[in-house]
Amino acid sequence: MPSTIGHEAQIFRAAIAALLIARCAAQLWLERLNRRFVLTHSASVPEAFRGIIDEPTFQKSNAYTLAKNKLSQLDILLDNMVLALVLFTGALPFFYFHFVEHFGVSSLSLAAFIFVVGLALSLFDLPLSWYSQFRLEQRFGFNTTTQKTWWLDRFKALFLSILLGYPLLLLVLKLVDWMGDWWWFWAWVAMLGFQLIMVVLAPVLIMPLFNKFTPLPEGSLRQRLLALADRTRFRAGSIQVMDGSKRSRHSNAFFAGFGKFRKIVLFDTLIAQLAEPELEAVLAHEIGHYKRKHIPKMLLFSAAASLAGLYLLSVLARQDWFFRAFGFLTHGNIAIALLLFGLLSGLATFWFSPIGHWWSRRYEYQADAYARDIMSEAQSLIGALRKLNEKNLSNLIPHPLYSGFYYSHPTMLEREEALKHS
Ligand SMILES: [Zn+2]
Repeated sequence: MPSTIGHEAQIFRAAIAALLIARCAAQLWLERLNRRFVLTHSASVPEAFRGIIDEPTFQKSNAYTLAKNKLSQLDILLDNMVLALVLFTGALPFFYFHFVEHFGVSSLSLAAFIFVVGLALSLFDLPLSWYSQFRLEQRFGFNTTTQKTWWLDRFKALFLSILLGYPLLLLVLKLVDWMGDWWWFWAWVAMLGFQLIMVVLAPVLIMPLFNKFTPLPEGSLRQRLLALADRTRFRAGSIQVMDGSKRSRHSNAFFAGFGKFRKIVLFDTLIAQLAEPELEAVLAHEIGHYKRKHIPKMLLFSAAASLAGLYLLSVLARQDWFFRAFGFLTHGNIAIALLLFGLLSGLATFWFSPIGHWWSRRYEYQADAYARDIMSEAQSLIGALRKLNEKNLSNLIPHPLYSGFYYSHPTMLEREEALKHS
């Protein structure tokens, strides 16, 4: 086949193959680098952590890191192999040919095609995520999910993607018919509108499908947190407790919604692990993100990036070689272009993840500094960070290159240093 697909298509196909191999090699190398780094520093608690973490916890966190590292390597191999098979064996055009033979080429059927391919690909992830939850997380005492909850979660997610994802996909394909050359701009508007609606609806309609939310009961903690919200002029509809313990002993806190719909959500696991001043510090950190306008800035950036992505997609969809490179003779078919673009984009974006994570880590430092200043002390936040790292068995000593690629938050030590010296 390759000899008949044309010169430009061949070059593009080879470039994608090279990118796929390069990304897979880089990912495996980063895992290996991190593994060796942890092994060389794991003899005993490093100087910097003496008095902060005890020997058994340190060893347990190393064992947890190494176990996750092994699973990651398997995951990387599987992901890249599946992608290579999908792109280079001709399975995709073969399946497409038979699909449209049965269902035609209406927007309804093309949207269904993309949907079914996406669904099929997500099935490959099931065994490893099952293993991760019920073997690995279980072994280290984090798993609290039952088989029933886990499978129900999957079905609910599937149901939601049929209910919300499929119509959005259909709308985008319809926009191609309605708007002609400018479809990509209107598709961007539609996706942005969808995102905004979801920000409002998700806390009310979707999150309750997965978790139970109850108002934080009256008492000293509630008073303390409301006083903080008052002091920082942070408007919040309510403070809710989420039953995170239904699935895992890992802990978290976040905001949902905006304006007067905004609610502060604390995991029940977080409340169990931290003292009151520490919980106040965690909330102060979250308010710091809000005050420094991190969320709109990130939304703005991601909107700009998706506009650029959609424009690039519209350009690629006009190139014959883009389709031929993967065995399609469907020049100009936006549905196929969308699918190929979705499959390929990760091969490019991977290399930019250090920039994104560097940016996110900068925001974490800013939110930490805000929390310290508003509380007029750093000790509560430091206490919270230490406990969270300990309880979650976080890797305290990632290889700098590894954390550069994968860490959206600075390490505990980096954050403590910044709190003391900035
Ligand atoms: Zn943060």
